[in-house]
Amino acid sequence: MTKTCSHLSQIVKVHPSARGCEECLRIGSMWVHLRVCRSCGHVGCCDESPHRHATRHFRETDHPIMEGYDPPEGWGWCYVDEVMIDLGGDTTPQDGPIPRFI
Ligand SMILES: [Zn+2]
Ligand SMILES: [Zn+2]
Ligand SMILES: [Zn+2]
Repeated sequence: MTKTCSHLSQIVKVHPSARGCEECLRIGSMWVHLRVCRSCGHVGCCDESPHRHATRHFRETDHPIMEGYDPPEGWGWCYVDEVMIDLGGDTTPQDGPIPRFI
């Protein structure tokens, strides 16, 4: 059973909204991994992070596709279909060094 993603046409080139998780930087929290939204460029943190801002962004906006972003690894994830997406070379370049709290 291979599930496929029906949102690939919605993947766009984005500019990252921040160098780290936008919300975590604001509240002074830390994250484990970063995810960038391939609809709008929102940078959020993964589900292993305390606040799971990338998932929250999906719930608030219905933007389906996010990309692993620390550093870009060439894969994405569709929240709707719950499948990994191979982005090949279509990754989002980092805007600069990622701030770390640890
Ligand atoms: Zn999908
Ligand atoms: Zn966060
Ligand atoms: Zn978004």
